[in-house]
Amino acid sequence: MIMEIDTTPLSAACYADDNDPMLPVDQARQRIASRLTPITGFECVPIVQAAGRILQQPIQSPFDVPSHTNSAVDGYAFNSEDAPAGGECIELILEGRSLAGQPSVSRLNRGSACRITTGAALPNGADTVVMQEDVERTDQTIKLSNMLRRGANIRRCGEDMKQGEQILQAGRFITPADIGLLASLGICEIAVRRRLRVTLFSTGDELFDPGEQRTLSGLYDSNRYTLTAALQRVGVEVRDLGIIPDDKKVLQQALSDAAGSDLIISSGGVSVGDADYTQSVLSELGQLEFWRVAIKPGRPLLFGLIGGQPFFGLPGNPVAVMVTFYQFVLPALEQLIGLNDKPLAPTLLATAVESIRKRPGRTEVQRAIVEQSAPGHFQVRTTGKQGSGILRSMSLANAFIILPHQRDQVEAGETVTVQPFAGLI
Ligand code: AMP
Ligand code: MG
Repeated sequence: MIMEIDTTPLSAACYADDNDPMLPVDQARQRIASRLTPITGFECVPIVQAAGRILQQPIQSPFDVPSHTNSAVDGYAFNSEDAPAGGECIELILEGRSLAGQPSVSRLNRGSACRITTGAALPNGADTVVMQEDVERTDQTIKLSNMLRRGANIRRCGEDMKQGEQILQAGRFITPADIGLLASLGICEIAVRRRLRVTLFSTGDELFDPGEQRTLSGLYDSNRYTLTAALQRVGVEVRDLGIIPDDKKVLQQALSDAAGSDLIISSGGVSVGDADYTQSVLSELGQLEFWRVAIKPGRPLLFGLIGGQPFFGLPGNPVAVMVTFYQFVLPALEQLIGLNDKPLAPTLLATAVESIRKRPGRTEVQRAIVEQSAPGHFQVRTTGKQGSGILRSMSLANAFIILPHQRDQVEAGETVTVQPFAGLI
């Protein structure tokens, strides 16, 4: 199904009405997606530095893999037409050796067998290998009695990859396995998307950096630290503008300073309190798309464009920051970097071990501990108090429970959708 995306900008007033107050999560995601343009820049890096980067160009195999038909085991190569039919024992004369990394013996004569090691080229005239454990060996002969399928214990030339075959697609998130695969193809350097540049700042007169002397009414800034760590895990280059006071002019300056980034992220000051300026400054300098989303926690989530660059004004509450980062900012980063293989944060279904309060009309994201209860079955419980300021509830959790817009109260034993943090790189 192709969904129509309405890309007309929304004024703040559209959602200020409490009868129809908030944008559902899916619509907010679509609206964000419709405003993003993937970057095109790239750089060449040695493969050992490519883990977690995004592949720029597809990779083809430069040769057949394996490049020659070879043995999958340590044993003896022979011609299957010499093999016993119906289980009678036969004796083959030992003739030569074929070792991994050394050229193959020339041609194997009928009635003979050749000692062969794992990975060694199969000599001409042989088509099957018997494992050394399955023969009786004398000085000059081997005896075998087990019937073997023709081609047993053989890896055929090109059976893994054919020369010219595409093995990694552009836009792929590069894993350690991919790096090994590239090395096995003799490729030492690849083109990857350049790193995304994200400008980050916190807002709030009450905030202090850890290490500073704070006042009694002050609060240590945790959001910039959470976000920096989360952004570094996805290989983003972070430009940190620090703590911006609740002052319109300073905020305007910070947003101008952020020019040239691929994305701007702030936290705090996005509601309609006396000291909340983010919304009005964005409306003056750029284009406000929306600022209220039907999600808990994270309702005051602001998104817009400033000088053409996407801007996320995340809420101030530390848990709401993490929830909105993973539910909205991470997918946006994936789109900007041009990721096109699997979602980085897959979900699974689990059984709720306790009831969970929920009301329809907004997506709710609970912090939870998910564990395997039986093979293939997962169960999940919340980490307790779910206040959006309680960062410890995130720290204790290993997953989100995502309760969709229309769902109401969850009873113990019901199935819920869970997003393990392990997938949220
Ligand atoms: P605000 O939306 O700016 O009113 O912030 C909502 C709540 O989050 C307030 O209690 C703030 O003190 C708190 N808060 C805002 N920014 C941060 C931050 N960077 N680190 C920790 N708490 C914050
Ligand atoms: Mg504030």
